[in-house]
Amino acid sequence: MSLRGFLSEMEKRGEVVHVAESVSPRFEVSKLAMEFDWGPILFFENVEGRRVAVNVCGSRDRICLALKTSRRDLHRRLISSMHSLKPPEVVKSAPSQEEIEKPDLGGIPILTHFEKDGGPYITSGVIYARSPKLGVENVSIHRLQVLDDSTLAIRLVPRHLYKLWTTHKMEKKDLEVSISVGVHPAVHLAAASSPPFGVNEFHIANSLLAGGLKLVKCLKVDAYAPAEAELIIEGVISWEKEALEGPLVDILGTYDVQRMQPIVEVKAITHRKNYIYQAIVPSSVEHRLLMGLPREALIWEAVSKVVPEVYGVRLTVAGGGWLHAVISIRKQREGDGKNALLAALAAHPSLKHAVVVDEDIDVHDSEAVEWAIATRFQADRDLIVVKNVRGSTLDPSSDQERVLTSKVGVDATKPIDKPKEKFELAKIPSTGRVEKLIESLRRHIRP
Ligand code: MN
Repeated sequence: MSLRGFLSEMEKRGEVVHVAESVSPRFEVSKLAMEFDWGPILFFENVEGRRVAVNVCGSRDRICLALKTSRRDLHRRLISSMHSLKPPEVVKSAPSQEEIEKPDLGGIPILTHFEKDGGPYITSGVIYARSPKLGVENVSIHRLQVLDDSTLAIRLVPRHLYKLWTTHKMEKKDLEVSISVGVHPAVHLAAASSPPFGVNEFHIANSLLAGGLKLVKCLKVDAYAPAEAELIIEGVISWEKEALEGPLVDILGTYDVQRMQPIVEVKAITHRKNYIYQAIVPSSVEHRLLMGLPREALIWEAVSKVVPEVYGVRLTVAGGGWLHAVISIRKQREGDGKNALLAALAAHPSLKHAVVVDEDIDVHDSEAVEWAIATRFQADRDLIVVKNVRGSTLDPSSDQERVLTSKVGVDATKPIDKPKEKFELAKIPSTGRVEKLIESLRRHIRP
């Protein structure tokens, strides 16, 4: 139930490509990762003498393999894990503490990703913090900018970790945290999900892993971390010190602005022997899937409450895995499509454009979705526009100061009052013989 375990499973399936050449953490790893971000896992053998893995969760099917589920059941799995929390076992000795280093970030191959990024960034760090006073534990992912060998700036969007930090800040106390790098995909997905405040996301990860997650207590700070993580940075988020953080390319592939943000002071670093540094390149397919899948699950759950059958939900990669959704439903009554759109827009507040289609349209096939819009949608009847609603802070076309945006819903389901046959995609009948010919031609003709 570790990154290593998952990598060796993927190795057997031919999903890992090794790069033996020496590659720089400055622009070279990120360039290669983005070039092949739709493809296999890239495993760099020599990045300043260290091993680096990227694009681990770069495909929906790999994520399904990691969770031992299918595309069809993925959302149900994610939702049910949020409702069946399992506290992980805490172990005394852990691979992630095999080697203990000085609190010096200098030896870690932290990547600099894009041209105008503010510097090297850790983007795969899973951050645990707790407040004994509130009785709350929290796990989430935050980007961390390297300021010097023992200091990071942390981007805290006003969500759960921000709330823990402000609670400590009021008492003038630093917040102790563990930052885990190199974890099983289930841990990343759980940390990227947003259960109510107070739910420990490690319990979700453990449920996804059927009880396979183990935690270990940190050495210098009051925090826990996965026992099989590759690398653990122990530190405190200062209650008072802040620094200018950014700019950094975020999920949409555009630069997020600079802001004053809290800093993390590193207290200790532990790792596995010959650790693998896991990197996630911002705006890569992997980044979009990891952020998007838990939101797809929320959309799936919300739409399921207003229409009886939801077939598929996808936050498209081109929409940043964040702003564009496609939902397929079995429509029973006129108006079901619009209810589905309203539920989807409410379930994921950053969602900007949503398209709902019938069950015969594959949500993963963008051409089919566009075809449905072309043949089943009329703007005067099937379009919803909602003005001045809360949206994503990242969308440069929105009112970013007040975080207001306009949202669009496109109901591309067939109208019920017209004959179904008019909307059917024409088929060519099978002859048996021709299917065999197609199979043999496929070997020579590739898309
Ligand atoms: Mn949380």
